[in-house]
Amino acid sequence: MAGAGYKLKKGDEVQVVSGKEKGKRGNILQVISGKDRVLIEKVNVVKRHMRQNAQDGGGIIEKEAPVHISNVSYYCSKCEGPVRVIHKRLENGKKVRSCSKCAEILDK
Ligand SMILES: [Zn+2]
Repeated sequence: MAGAGYKLKKGDEVQVVSGKEKGKRGNILQVISGKDRVLIEKVNVVKRHMRQNAQDGGGIIEKEAPVHISNVSYYCSKCEGPVRVIHKRLENGKKVRSCSKCAEILDK
């Protein structure tokens, strides 16, 4: 099932925990389901040559490249660091994500 089981989703603040972008932080722009990759704002930025067109005349643009989901962790603002996300069921039956360290509920 594509996209099922990811603990991270669009808009989450994450920190890169391995690879050449290690230590960088940003918000998830997109989860690429089926590929286990995420696009993170201002992380793993690469330069791309644009083909010339009538609108902007082409040139070089900077664009985020996908990062493997195993290289990033949720950034908990309470713990001030990367944490593991666990699933938790509330008393009302609602399933939410929570920080494994401080138990803060991440889905409001
Ligand atoms: Zn926490």
